[in-house]
Amino acid sequence: MSDNHADLIVLGAGPGGYACAFRAADLGRKTVMVDPRATLGGVCLNVGCIPSKTLLHAAEVIREARHINDWGISTGKVSVDLDKLRAKKDGIVGQLTTGLTGLAKRRKVQTIRGTAQFTGTGSLDIDGESWTFDQAVIAVGSAPLRLPGWPEDDRIWDSSDALELRDIPKRLAIVGGGIIGLEMATIYAALGSNVTVIEFMDQVAPGADAEAVAVLHAALEAEGVTIHTGTKVSQVKATKTALTLTCEGGFEGSIKADAAIQAVGRRSNGSLVAPEAAGVEIDDRGIIHVDASCRTNVETIFAIGDVTGNPMLAHRATHQGHIAAEVASGHAAALDTDLIPSVAYTNPELAWAGLTEAQAKDQGIAHKTASFPWAASGRNLASGGGDGLTKLVYCPNTHRLLGASIVGRNAGELLAECVLAMEMGGRLEDIALTVHAHPTLSETIGFSAERALGTLTDL
Ligand code: FAD
Ligand code: NAD
Repeated sequence: MSDNHADLIVLGAGPGGYACAFRAADLGRKTVMVDPRATLGGVCLNVGCIPSKTLLHAAEVIREARHINDWGISTGKVSVDLDKLRAKKDGIVGQLTTGLTGLAKRRKVQTIRGTAQFTGTGSLDIDGESWTFDQAVIAVGSAPLRLPGWPEDDRIWDSSDALELRDIPKRLAIVGGGIIGLEMATIYAALGSNVTVIEFMDQVAPGADAEAVAVLHAALEAEGVTIHTGTKVSQVKATKTALTLTCEGGFEGSIKADAAIQAVGRRSNGSLVAPEAAGVEIDDRGIIHVDASCRTNVETIFAIGDVTGNPMLAHRATHQGHIAAEVASGHAAALDTDLIPSVAYTNPELAWAGLTEAQAKDQGIAHKTASFPWAASGRNLASGGGDGLTKLVYCPNTHRLLGASIVGRNAGELLAECVLAMEMGGRLEDIALTVHAHPTLSETIGFSAERALGTLTDL
């Protein structure tokens, strides 16, 4: 056996990879983790979840400062020091990635900076060095999709460019109204850009509940964001003074912009590790398919996170990471993929889990819905909240909760109660009879269940 031998090697140090490596180390495995990035944490910590949520917090404070004028509190004109904001964001990212390095050291996980590629079923190359391994976990994540036919121009950004905060473009076009597009619209609109979102489908956040999305759509428009749905960009021209996007469909015409963000989804990085050399099957979208235990078609090789396809979310990657480590170490574990919550950290937040009403209908699943409008929530009004909605999808026979969609302040935090209820097979009665503190936004969940049961007195 060569010196370069790993008991368990993890390719990629994102939320999937580091969670897997740390769990495996905790289970007594001698673990190696390899990633070409200078810092641990993958997309999520370096150029994804954390920097975007930092800027979304700044956006929220800017908006609150403006709105509080209506309450008789004057903050004066809000000004943004872009260098200071960028430094704050980078500082928070640095704090977390440095923390991870410490956690890896304490667990004696060997970290290698390099790019790994398989050379056989039990061997790989890391920047020219040969390694052998007993078991491997592929956790190499994903990268932004690029639209074909666009010119090369540094005013055309992907999400990482947008999070660099190079400047605040006067006119910003965002192509793609998914989670990234909507979060970027929220950030840049608050910073002062004139934002236009161009979405191909008939609604933004296409997978989410239409009623909940309508609330977010209206709120974004009220903040000055222009949204064109059912629209595709057919041509992009770059001149010295502007980018011109020609649109077809719902909106016919051209949009002039000083910068444009492409936010049209992400592609798995699976092909970057030469999986075929190890006999690992990969599809033509670069996705490595796994079973509920995160096993690939090769017994000793696992895959987790974005490389395994949708939903491409950090918490899914982390849970898969734990499962792969446990299964690789001889424990039984599996992931229920139906219950991965989604949250857009927009203003207001949009959060959902389980079945939406449309999905229940499409799949022919017996269902009913019950909702509570936040206009009737004392806590929402008392904290200056705007429009919001809590909506439950449930089985009319068993009263089991099948899905939940929430739009409003802190929707992402509130959703956890619904996810737990679904995880535990909870029924409307369980939710309605749970005493929710007053006045809280969580009451809207209890009220929705009471409404379904006919016991609500708050509407
Ligand atoms: P990644 O985080 O992509 O990490 C993969 C790592 O593998 C990278 O560090 C890469 O350098 C490394 N790698 C690549 N090739 C190789 C190789 N050949 N050898 C070794 N290493 C390699 N998700 C959420 O749940 N919540 C959010 O709020 C959220 N916000 C986001 C905001 C943005 C702007 C973006 C872009 C994404 C966001 N996501 C969010 C998605 C989330 O970042 C991903 O789902 C998550 O990072 C996936 O984790 P992963 O471990 O699979 O891969
Ligand atoms: P997405 O798939 O969520 O959204 C892409 C959007 O672009 C879709 O609505 C799609 O219809 C639209 N689109 C595709 N081609 C288009 C075209 N040519 N013209 C106009 N619109 C077009 O992808 P994303 O927003 O890029 O995000 C990528 C991944 O990152 C997702 O899996 C997402 O879940 C994850 N992410 C999660 C969070 C979060 O959890 N808060 C935040 C950011 C990103």
